[in-house]
Amino acid sequence: MLGTRNFHKLIEDELIRISKNLELHYDSNNIHVLEIARCSRLSYFERMDPLTDEFSNAVSSIFKNSLRKMLNGITREYKIEDLSIFATVDLIIDNDLIINFVPVSEIPKGPHPNDLLYTNACMFIFEKESGFVVYFSPEGKFTEFNVIKSKRMFEQVVRRARILHLLLKEKKTPVVEPSELCFSCKYFQRCFGQQKESEHLLDNIFGIGNKN
Ligand code: SF4
Repeated sequence: MLGTRNFHKLIEDELIRISKNLELHYDSNNIHVLEIARCSRLSYFERMDPLTDEFSNAVSSIFKNSLRKMLNGITREYKIEDLSIFATVDLIIDNDLIINFVPVSEIPKGPHPNDLLYTNACMFIFEKESGFVVYFSPEGKFTEFNVIKSKRMFEQVVRRARILHLLLKEKKTPVVEPSELCFSCKYFQRCFGQQKESEHLLDNIFGIGNKN
């Protein structure tokens, strides 16, 4: 019945279904490094009170998971008392070199701190000495950045994981972590309220608000 079927909705529902099958589910004693490398408040909202933008989440999740599957990506657990921290690496070359891929619309001049934090944590959890973050664009351009292994950065990840672990258990929302990523975050309004006032506030803090 070609005329009566809503094909847009049919495709959307199918992609959401596939992405849900690909999702890994963690309880409050299990935290993925991805949740720590980004804003903890965002990670908390995603678990406890997510805004449902299921379709755009589904597409990016299928894309990232498919890439990881093709590259034989691996997840490993790092245990600290009752907390397990999980890290997923996209590709390991020669059993020695960790590579994590980040899709971007434009190739950046330098690595984002969150991506450095993520790959550095992978280097500790997988016990490897070399790691790269690779940014690639839809046109097939890519650039790689070497990550220098840092114990201090890994300790920061562990500390942040412990705090998120505690807050999830106590159902307490982490504080706002203002950064330039807030402007594209789906929880912007939840954190900063009315857009105009918030951009002004962020502009005052960072000098990064919309100046138009
Ligand atoms: S708007 Fe900023 S502080 Fe709020 S959840 Fe998003 S990234 Fe975190």
